[in-house]
Amino acid sequence: MLHHMLFSRLLAAASAVVLTVLSFLAPPQRIPDDDTVVRVGLCYGETGKSSITMHAAGGFTLGRAGADGWTALLAVENETVIVSRLQSRPITGEARYVNAAPAIEAAEREDGTVFCENGIYMVAKGLSPAASEAIFTVSDENGSLLFLYAGAEALTLSADAAIEFPADETLYSYRGRIECRPDGAQFSVINVVGLEDYVKGVLPWEIGTNESDETTKAFAVLTRTAPLSESKPAHLEDGFDVCTGTCCQIYRGLARTDERLERLADETAGQILTYEGHPAVVLYHTTSGGATCSLSEAWGGDDLPYLRSVDVGEPYTEAQDGVWTEYLTMRELTSRLRAYGGVFSALTGTVSDIRVTATDCYGSSFVTELTVTDNEGNTAVLRYSAPIRQALGLKSANFTLTPLNLYRPNGSVYHAGVRINGRGYGHGVGLSGTGAAYLSESLGYDYTRILAAYFPGTMLKTLA
Ligand SMILES: [Zn+2]
Repeated sequence: MLHHMLFSRLLAAASAVVLTVLSFLAPPQRIPDDDTVVRVGLCYGETGKSSITMHAAGGFTLGRAGADGWTALLAVENETVIVSRLQSRPITGEARYVNAAPAIEAAEREDGTVFCENGIYMVAKGLSPAASEAIFTVSDENGSLLFLYAGAEALTLSADAAIEFPADETLYSYRGRIECRPDGAQFSVINVVGLEDYVKGVLPWEIGTNESDETTKAFAVLTRTAPLSESKPAHLEDGFDVCTGTCCQIYRGLARTDERLERLADETAGQILTYEGHPAVVLYHTTSGGATCSLSEAWGGDDLPYLRSVDVGEPYTEAQDGVWTEYLTMRELTSRLRAYGGVFSALTGTVSDIRVTATDCYGSSFVTELTVTDNEGNTAVLRYSAPIRQALGLKSANFTLTPLNLYRPNGSVYHAGVRINGRGYGHGVGLSGTGAAYLSESLGYDYTRILAAYFPGTMLKTLA
């Protein structure tokens, strides 16, 4: 009902709205023709939107994303627009227009609103109560309707300027194009961005501004390669390549980019790491604590020759979290392993013994097998360093265990536990930030040699 009332009010205001006919305009896209496109999922699933307010200096071009690519539909001069998913279907007149201009004229004449469905323009004069299709409204900041859109695919917004909106709690701005795509009862928001702009949006968060030029350039190549080599199937199902969290790479659009990072990214423009002609699987972490961990020993699965343990002489003892110690009582261990579940669901009692029974078969000291026994005689074995790190809740799986019991004067144990001597921070696979800094600052390596040291057998290539 709210929508109906709102709609009448909107319709009354619609004729006053300034619309620009697009036919003769070059659609602003903000993605250079020669750049690769990355689709970044900003809001989806639980973070999906039912309405979102966007701002762009100079106004927006509204369009449609379809199987045939992106088509501009209408330009609006409004610098602030509200995009909402509508659960009602517009009632349209008989007339259908191939171009926006006659539809805009008719809408003004008939006191209606321009409605576009699958690229055909109509004049909408009200709403019928139910609709299952993806129908979006684009309103101005006062809620007056500018445009109605329906179609199986997505509504897109682009602008000459960056588009600013709160993807999460914070206002960020984005280059490229924004797609609003039906997602359950709400809609997902996807940033379709050029690869070079994507890299510039990742660097400040994943690398920061404290690294040397050559280390930063090595990271620029890695952050550029990552979205091309590995997309999670769940993301592809949701209609994008990468998300903005640590599961992929942290990305917040233009926020925090700075001139130096942009220049360093530009100095490696288009360069990616390849193996046998394909984008390499690139992983990086903070500090390995000695030799890096092999990929197949971290998560199981296939071994990759360029992601086996390497030791570049990383001076981890000087790094933050390079060396650390943690004490855990058997009781704490029991609760951590219970919370992790999995193989440890077999443990019904309290942990009485915990041992490292294997380390990385390619030579690093990362723990790749943990054998745990409880006081009821159950034993559980967890394989691979990444789940082991997660189950124990440690900074790294590069550690040794020492039983640490405290005794009463009569010799009985009153406090059973372990001391964990750890090294480094992160999963330990691929490039170590601490190691890369050492190679660049102490040994004078440039970024190509840093990458060659950590990913032996890979080649740098420039995207055509
Ligand atoms: Zn992800």
